[in-house]
Amino acid sequence: MKVATTRRTKIVVTLGPALQEAGRLREALEAGADVVRINLSHTTLDELGAWLQRVDGLEAELQRPVGVMLDTKGPEVRLTGVPSPGIALKAGASFAVGEPGGPAVDWPEWTQWLSVGMALEFGDGEAVAEVVSVDPPTVRLQVIQGGQLAPGKKVSPRAGTWPLPPLSPFDRAALEAAGARADFLAVSFVRGPEDLRQVRQWLATRGLSPQLVAKMETRRAVERLDAILDEADAVMVARGDLGVECSPVEVPELQKQIIFAASERGVPVVTATQMLESMVEHPVPTRAEATDVANAIWDGSDAVMLSEETAVGRYPVEAIRTLAELAARADQAAQYRHRIPLKPQSVAEAVAWAACAIADTLGVDAILTPTESGATARSVSRYRPAPPVAGLSPHRHVLRRLTLWWGITPIPMEPAQSSDDMMNAAVTAAVRRGMVAEGDRYILTAGVPFGTPGSTNLLRIESVSAPMPTPGAP
Ligand code: PGA
Ligand code: MN
Repeated sequence: MKVATTRRTKIVVTLGPALQEAGRLREALEAGADVVRINLSHTTLDELGAWLQRVDGLEAELQRPVGVMLDTKGPEVRLTGVPSPGIALKAGASFAVGEPGGPAVDWPEWTQWLSVGMALEFGDGEAVAEVVSVDPPTVRLQVIQGGQLAPGKKVSPRAGTWPLPPLSPFDRAALEAAGARADFLAVSFVRGPEDLRQVRQWLATRGLSPQLVAKMETRRAVERLDAILDEADAVMVARGDLGVECSPVEVPELQKQIIFAASERGVPVVTATQMLESMVEHPVPTRAEATDVANAIWDGSDAVMLSEETAVGRYPVEAIRTLAELAARADQAAQYRHRIPLKPQSVAEAVAWAACAIADTLGVDAILTPTESGATARSVSRYRPAPPVAGLSPHRHVLRRLTLWWGITPIPMEPAQSSDDMMNAAVTAAVRRGMVAEGDRYILTAGVPFGTPGSTNLLRIESVSAPMPTPGAP
């Protein structure tokens, strides 16, 4: 029996100036980036177009699907009119926002939602101030926690989020520009399932259907975790903002709560932020960071993410290499993985579960999942089987989705007319890719008739028979 000896946990890498230099993005993909994240809070439409073009070029060159995740600005309010390098705020001092010539915000209607005594955070909690008076458009504030007020920083209520729609006008423009190339949409500051439904409805009017990744960034979102999991295609443990709104000391518990709940329901999880933060400045991680990455994987993360490390860090490629190595090691030490008793809830789940149970006990060389929508591969991924898993699809957009899911190697296959055709095409593609060879035993699981998404109902245990194409042949 083959046990996958390569990394199974996926890596999401945030694009930014540090990967701008010629050749860097290629190095990043070669170092292990499976999905690239484009943060719409820090990207112009021109930059977005340029990144997408480069990613597509490299995808073709490296002959490997690369997932693209757009990450929304969301219901975000930013400071304007702050001169560079910013204003130093001293605790106890008072200052005004909204006076002519002084600092203002990019959402003037905010005064309707402010009340005396309300605490506002600047940036990622760099400074905190309390509302003293509201006299539109002027708001007077008193500094509770001093710090630097840098240009363009976020202003957020200490508790919750601004009552703005989940997609900002810029998010919508970016989604229209990216079109079907947005494989994943990370929805910032999700407040509940209605945000995701609203986003999906808007996307449908544009004929778009990216996988929605709900970013868990507020206490309110954690309180509504179950309802969010019902609506989301994946979730992100957004430890940065979660640590601002709750507190850094609550993050470990919240991380486990989110990962366990998501894993139990088969919703993939991305654990994000400060994973290798010290590598922004240094070529090696701290021991605490190395341990954190492994623990996030053993908790049950499908993917781990890099933010500043690759967007603005000094060692972006080294950070990806380090993360890939840490992930590969954590994946091999599967005995530490937290196991959630999974109860399959449907025929599709039961078949996927059985495929993995057989694969692990009987021992097979690979699991092949020809998949029309990605659903079969995703169900199999959930049970964390030991052998390598091929996610086979004739559709490019489906293969790109599979880049985020734990343990799935996306492999293109020929379109099929019948179920037999589909099985042959799947085995042929897996052989060509070198995942299985003549004589190897595999489990094939799929939904028949092929073409009905989410209908996994077939499980076959077979061996690769001769003659089959040689690996690497076209
Ligand atoms: P961000 O989200 O990087 O877009 O802020 C992640 C987080 O808050 O952890
Ligand atoms: Mn965030």
